[in-house]
Amino acid sequence: MYLNNLSVLDEEHTCPDCNAPMTPCEAPPVHVGDGLGWGSEVLFICLNDECPPFVNGWKKVDVNYGHKGTFRNMQLPGSKELNVMMVASEMAFTGSILDLEEIKMQNVRYKKEKEALAALDTCLADKDIKPVMTLILDEAATPAGRKRAVEMLVRFNDLSCIDAIRNHTFKKTEFTQATNLVIQKLLKDNCQKECSFCAELIKAQAKKCMHCKSDL
Ligand SMILES: [Zn+2]
Ligand SMILES: [Zn+2]
Repeated sequence: MYLNNLSVLDEEHTCPDCNAPMTPCEAPPVHVGDGLGWGSEVLFICLNDECPPFVNGWKKVDVNYGHKGTFRNMQLPGSKELNVMMVASEMAFTGSILDLEEIKMQNVRYKKEKEALAALDTCLADKDIKPVMTLILDEAATPAGRKRAVEMLVRFNDLSCIDAIRNHTFKKTEFTQATNLVIQKLLKDNCQKECSFCAELIKAQAKKCMHCKSDL
């Protein structure tokens, strides 16, 4: 789940009825009942089963609506206004509690990807290979951006990218193949080869590796 505004995750909401901390949950896609969305990806919900509206709600819902259900207190991000949501069971929302650390990590990655994509147009002129490598090595990045990065890689003519690529395991063989081709081209352009024993870069015409002393 990607949030445009991560500060939501740092908000603290306290249930006005029971003083329990309210739990950030993923908003359901539609507001059940009137078909409208909440206008928020995150809802802070009091999941305390001892909260008065929850305890007293079963009877109210039965009397007023004639079905099983009760209420949970809810606040929207950036607001302390209390909303009451009807829920069908005590399990409602317990499956959509947000894993804050996970979301923060995903969002950090996503931001880096977006920054790298934005830098693609200028990084060659800036001689900055970092955005290109960020995309190539980010398995969660969009394939189109990564493909473009691989295509650009050879133009940096920077042999230092080889180690990072060799140390990375690509999930898709198309990226293994595409980066292999780039490495072959870079080595050829620079009259270098990889030692077949220690993988260090050596002169293309070398008969003995200067690093591991192996005969080639
Ligand atoms: Zn409460
Ligand atoms: Zn060697």
